[in-house]
Amino acid sequence: MLPAVDPALSPPRSPTRRRFNQALFAWHVTARRDLAVRHATEPWAILVAEVMSQQTQIERVGPAWRSFVTRWPDPSALATAGTRDLLGAWAGLGYNRRALALREAARAIVREHGGRVPATVDALEGLPGIGPYTARAVAASAFGAPVAPLDVNVRRVVGRVIGGDLPPKELQAQADMLVARRAARDWLDGVMDLAATVCRPRTPRCAECPVRAMCATRQGGRATSQRAAPAPRFPSTNRWLRGRLLAAVREAPAGAWVDAPDGLGDHDRSAVLAALRGLERDGFLELRDGQARLATHA
Ligand code: SF4
Repeated sequence: MLPAVDPALSPPRSPTRRRFNQALFAWHVTARRDLAVRHATEPWAILVAEVMSQQTQIERVGPAWRSFVTRWPDPSALATAGTRDLLGAWAGLGYNRRALALREAARAIVREHGGRVPATVDALEGLPGIGPYTARAVAASAFGAPVAPLDVNVRRVVGRVIGGDLPPKELQAQADMLVARRAARDWLDGVMDLAATVCRPRTPRCAECPVRAMCATRQGGRATSQRAAPAPRFPSTNRWLRGRLLAAVREAPAGAWVDAPDGLGDHDRSAVLAALRGLERDGFLELRDGQARLATHA
C-alpha cells in the first residue's frame, strides 16, 4: 500500500501552467478589454462571434454581431435566412463567404445535432466552414474545453513564452498544456488581450509584460519583432474588388440584373469578369451575358 501523501508537500502538477496563469489572470483583472462579443453566453452567439471576428478586427464586430444574433437567435432561424438578408447583415465585415458558410453550418447543426451547437472539437470541425481555430475557440469559450485555439495572436504569445521554433503539432500540445483547466474562456480572453496590447507583433512591450519572468524569449533576450507586410492599396486587391461588386449587386432591387462595369479601382474588365465568376462559383451571384444578380437560392 502506498503511503499517504501530504498535498502540501506534493510538487505542483504543472508549475509552468500555474505560474503562467496566475500572472496572466492577475494582470487581466484590470487589463481586460470590454468587447461586446464577450457578453455572449449562448454557444450559438459565441459561434457567430468567432466566425465574424475571423479576418475582421474584433472591435468592429460588436454592432453587427448584436443585430445578427438578435435577428437569428439560433441555428434554426439562420438556416432559413435569405441570401439578401444575410449579406445585408454581414455588410462591412468583409469576406462574405463566411456568411454563407455560417448558414451552411446552421443547417448542419439543425440536421445533425438537433439544432444545438455541438460541444466537442471534432463535432465542431465537422461543420461546414468551421476550421480548427474556430472549433477550438467555441469548444473553449462556450463549453469550457481546455484547448488552445491557435490563431496568429495566440501562436505568437505561446511561441514566445515557450521559445524555440516548434513544429505545429508540438506548439499546439504545449499551448493546450497552458490552458487553465477550469477557466478556458478567461484564459483565451487573457492571452488575446496580452497579444493585442503587450506582446504585440512588431513592438512587444516586455518590460510591462505580466509573464516576462517565465518567457523564454524574453529571458533569452530574443523578443523579436515581426515586420508587418506593407499595407496593400485596397483598390488593387481582389478582396476589395469582390466586396465592391457584391455590394453593387446587393443594393440593386431584388431580382434585378446589374451590368458588369468595364473597370473598377485598379481592375480592368477582364479582372472584373473573373471576380464575378469567382463570386458565382462561391454561390453569391448568378451571371448571364455580362450581367449579374444576387443568387436566388436560399
Ligand atoms: S515577455 Fe515579451 S515576448 Fe515574452 S510574452 Fe511578454 S511581451 Fe511577449
